[in-house]
Formats: sequence, structure tokens, C-alpha cells
Amino acid sequence: MPNVKTKYIFVTGGVVSSLGKGLTAAAIGALLEQRGLEVRMQKFDPYLNVDPGTMSPFQHGEVYVLNDGAETDLDLGHYERFTSGKLTKLNNLTSGQVYETVLQKERRGDYLGATVQVIPHVTNEIKDRIYIDNDDQVDVVITELGGTIGDIEGLPFLEAMRQFALEQDPNNVLFLHCTLLPYLKAAGELKTKPSQQSVAKLREIGIQPDILVCRTEVPMTSEMRQKLSLFCNVPVKAVIEECDVETSIYELPLSLRAEKVDDLIIDKFNLSTKENTMQIWVDVVRRLKAPSHKVEIGVVGKYIELQDAYKSVYESITHAGISNDCSVRVVRIDAEELENEGTQLLSSLDGILIPGGFGDRGIEGKIAAAQYARENGIPFFGLCLGMQIAVIEFARNVAGLDKANSSEFDPETTHPVIHIMEEQKELTTKGGNMRLGAYDCALADDSFSYHAYGTLEVMERHRHRYEFNNAYKDTLTEKGLRIAGTNPDKDLVEIVEMPEHPWFVAVQFHPEFQSKPHAAHPLFANFIAATLKYKK
Ligand code: GLN
Repeated sequence: MPNVKTKYIFVTGGVVSSLGKGLTAAAIGALLEQRGLEVRMQKFDPYLNVDPGTMSPFQHGEVYVLNDGAETDLDLGHYERFTSGKLTKLNNLTSGQVYETVLQKERRGDYLGATVQVIPHVTNEIKDRIYIDNDDQVDVVITELGGTIGDIEGLPFLEAMRQFALEQDPNNVLFLHCTLLPYLKAAGELKTKPSQQSVAKLREIGIQPDILVCRTEVPMTSEMRQKLSLFCNVPVKAVIEECDVETSIYELPLSLRAEKVDDLIIDKFNLSTKENTMQIWVDVVRRLKAPSHKVEIGVVGKYIELQDAYKSVYESITHAGISNDCSVRVVRIDAEELENEGTQLLSSLDGILIPGGFGDRGIEGKIAAAQYARENGIPFFGLCLGMQIAVIEFARNVAGLDKANSSEFDPETTHPVIHIMEEQKELTTKGGNMRLGAYDCALADDSFSYHAYGTLEVMERHRHRYEFNNAYKDTLTEKGLRIAGTNPDKDLVEIVEMPEHPWFVAVQFHPEFQSKPHAAHPLFANFIAATLKYKK
């Protein structure tokens, strides 16, 4: 049942997609945490996939993985980086999940002969989720709706939000609408009409936004604020300017604070909270803006042209830069291009990182990059597929295992140094069938990894099907590969290192899912520290 104490914020988006609505929601979460409130964030996605795990990076960008193994929208990555609330599979609801549940209930006969309909059965399922997620009674639940107002798929979610607001005390629910003010160069002005129409569409459904957050390239005039206020029926002080940030997304909490968004929310909810010092964010931005050092690292991947495919990797690199007082220029290198043009593409780099991936395209280019890093003493960091690549490269070029490979890329290889485990082979469906979520990893005490973490036991998140083949453990370690981390329960190799190298660490997991701007992941931080130390 609804909890009387908890307040609810619903974040919607209008005019265009890719507005940065997820970031805005996350930054507002950060602002409220700075006021001493406990915040829980969740994302509702109107698509019919049960989760984004089966979607291509071209469709969806990164699939973000939580501790419990949920494969979620990348906005949950922003939520975890900006706020400290725990997230689970309950924090990302898709239409696919809603319909799956409704249809299961119908088959079980739970609806007692009723005609099953969008209202009330689908909307009830959505409303239940808003409540369920709040078992532990946080102060504020922020629910972001994916997509843009006007999308057919979004309607059941908006209807559920409208009904939810109706069931609550009016002071417990706040609607925040993010919109775009296009700038017309020829006219030299920002245009408000698309925002007016987007809000009109919301009001048609029965939702009146309390706050309007306007994305804009240039500052708004006070006339513009008044116009938006009048036409969108929002008080002038609740028309918020969100100008493009100068250097980094981590400036966003500060710019929303400057517009007093947290005060608006706290007033509406009648909460009494502490003052906002924004200390964490002031520090993060200060360190980001005036770094003392500079390094250049190459990310060798397959989806390099996509802004979002390696989102958390890029963010973690930024965090590691902040913690090392260093600006990190990331050179994105297409693994296939490396196959064609050779490793001279890598010659100016201070470090090389190979992120995760699936399928055999670009694999040989990545192997060449790992070899180049190993032979030239360039700090190397391999993530998931990047670790498998490092093992294949070492097996072929150091241990002399001709044509060693992963059975993912060459099922007939004579040396499957990376292979699929029996339990994985038996799974036939595509969704949710990888090794997913957090697993323990025990570290070797003489390793780079141990020095980075400063502890012998860690927990890291996974998303893969293939594993290091333990049949090759002795052969490879005798040739000098160090097994620096293993999962004690399943005896799986989690980290390999090259002890003779300045810094060569490759991990089967995804450390990028546990890094924050003010608390860089230890392996990322150490990787960037090594690039600085060994910089040419
Ligand atoms: N394709 C590899 C596997 O499934 C690596 C996956 C990844 O990098 N996330 O094991």
C-alpha cells in the first residue's frame, strides 16, 4: 500500500528523444540527496522487450547490469553514478514485463472471468510497481518514463501515473516535464511552440506538469520564461533553464541547483530538510575543470561510432581522470580499422583499453592491440571480452598454442582457451541467460589488482557466456600469465595479469558498472595512474 511518508516525482520528456532526461532525473536525485533525503530512482520503458538484454547496441546503447543480474536501461547507470540508492530488477519496468505479468495472471484465472484491458489491468500492474519498489520507505521515489510524449506506447504508463496522482495527497506527487527549446539561427531566437504543444498533450491526458525543465543551447530571456509559464500553465519560477553544460555532465547538479530546482520540489512536498552544500559536486567539477596532467588512451572496440555503446566505460575513465587529477583524452579505435591499417594507430597512446563485446567482428584487431600493449609495455586494461582477447593473444603468441581462440569465434579451434560451460550450453532462450550480476572474486595478494583494491575479496558484476578454460590454466601460468582473481564458488578465472609488464590487467567482469564520479573504481583509477606513470 502507499506509504504516507514517501513523495513521488514523475519525469517525462517532450519534443525529441535523447534530451538527457535520464541525466536530468539522476541529477535531481543527486540534488535531493544533498538535502539529506533518501532517494530511489526507477525507469519505465514503454518498449515490448522484457528487458534490453536482447537488443543490439545500435538499437539501445549499453545494457547496464545491476548487482542482482538485471539487464537494464543505461539510464540506471546514470542513477547509480549520481545517487546512492540501491537498484534492483524492480527499478526498470518495461511494457514487455507488464504484459508478461498480465498475461500470466490471465492464464492462471486471476482475473475471475473479467475482460482483460489496458485500463485497469495493465495500468494497475504499473501502479503496483510504483508502490512495490518502495517497500523500504524512502523519502522520494523518482520515476522516469522513457520515450517522448505523444508516443502510443507510453500512454498506459502516463495513464497509470495520472491515476496514481489521483489516489495520493496532491502534495505527495510532482510531475516534471523535460523539453527542448530549439534555437533558430536565422531568426536568432529560441522557440517555445513545440514545448507548448508537448505540455498541451500531457494536459489532454490529465497531467499538468509542476516543473518544466527546458533544454536550450543559449540562455532564456525572462520574457521567454513568462511566455512558457503562461502557455504551459506552470509558475514562472518553475520554468527551469537547462543550458548545455560546458565541460561535463557532472556540472548538471550544480546548474539545476542554481535554478533552485531542489527548493521547488521541497516546497511542493512541504519537507523540511538541511541546506544544500553541493560539496561533492563542487569538488568533482573543480577537479574536472583544472586537471594538472593529461594522458591519451585508446579504446579499441566494435561499436566505437556509437555514443552510448560503452557509456559506463567512458564515464569510468572520466572518474579515474578526476581521481588522478588528470584529463584523459579517449581515442576511439575501430577494431576492424586496426585489422586493415595496422598497429601504428596505437603508437601515440599512453594506455589501451578493450571493452566488452559479442560476435567475431573485429576480434583479430583487438588481439593485435593486446599484443601491441603487451610487447611495448603500454598499460593495458581488458574488460570482459577484453580479458578473453588478452588470454587468446597470450596463448597464441607466448604459449605457442597455434590458432588458440574462444569457441565463440571459432567453434572448431584446437585450443579453446575460452569456452562455454556445460550449464550455459543447455540454455536455449536468448533473454537473461548469461552469467549475470555480482559474483565474488578472491584476489592474489601479489597482484596489480590487489594493490588497486587494497583488499583480498571483491564483488563485481558480470554479463557474458564464455569463460577462461581451466584446462589451459597450468600451460598458461607456466608461461608467465598470472591468475590474479578467481571466483571461489565456481573456480572461474576472473582476472589475468602479466606480472612482468608495467600494468596489464584483464578482468572477466565489468568494473565500469561500479564507478562513481567522486569514487572512481579502483582498477580504472590504477589504470590511469599507470598511464601517467609510464607516459612517454
Ligand atoms: N562475448 C563474450 C562472452 O559472452 C564477452 C561478453 C562481454 O564482453 N560482455 O563471454
